[in-house]
Amino acid sequence: MKIHSAEFELSSPKLEGCPRWALPEFAFIGRSNVGKSSLINLLADRRELALVSDTPGKTKLINFYVMNGRWSLVDLPGYGYAHVGKKQREAFNDAVAEFLSERRNLARVFVLIDSRLPPQAIDLEFLQWMEKCRAPYALVFTKADKQSATQTQAGVAVFLKSVAAWRKDPPEYFLTSARTGSGRQDILGCIERVLGERNRATG
Ligand code: GDP
Repeated sequence: MKIHSAEFELSSPKLEGCPRWALPEFAFIGRSNVGKSSLINLLADRRELALVSDTPGKTKLINFYVMNGRWSLVDLPGYGYAHVGKKQREAFNDAVAEFLSERRNLARVFVLIDSRLPPQAIDLEFLQWMEKCRAPYALVFTKADKQSATQTQAGVAVFLKSVAAWRKDPPEYFLTSARTGSGRQDILGCIERVLGERNRATG
């Protein structure tokens, strides 16, 4: 898929303020600093569509972008902030939880995982929760350029083994690097495929 246009639509702190439209939505979420903003900019082929920052917890809103006029990229607030108070963290997780479990036009959630780290409890807990709310998701292993392909593959295998504890079929997954651009077309190809499936389903 080629990206011809990427336009910011709006930001909302909660589900009520989200756009009322029928566009299929593809959401991106992960622990702060996992490389989400960098990946979104890579996918959109824009340097600053999403803000890349070294300050964890800066993005607390649900951000909507319209891609090629036919699907929406949703930048969800990351989880696992060290720097926000407990109250704020809870309110903000509520909004994300509501979005993920209730949003009708949510076509896929891409859950970002840092490929260099051993499985993190917070990521596994989040994925278990996703399973319960039946949100369709795929995994995106980020920062693959930071180590050898063999190391990345080994890390992915360990991660998938953890997920297999509660899920029979392994989730679809992608290896990416915002630095080299690897994995970009794989994710866009997945989005194209899901859009096609939805079109066929709605007729
Ligand atoms: P976010 O907090 O999840 O949005 O993460 P950012 O996109 O802001 O990235 C966090 C840090 O990781 C920044 O310093 C980025 O430059 C760096 N980073 C992000 N993606 C990659 C990648 O694919 N490779 C490398 N080497 N660094 C990355």
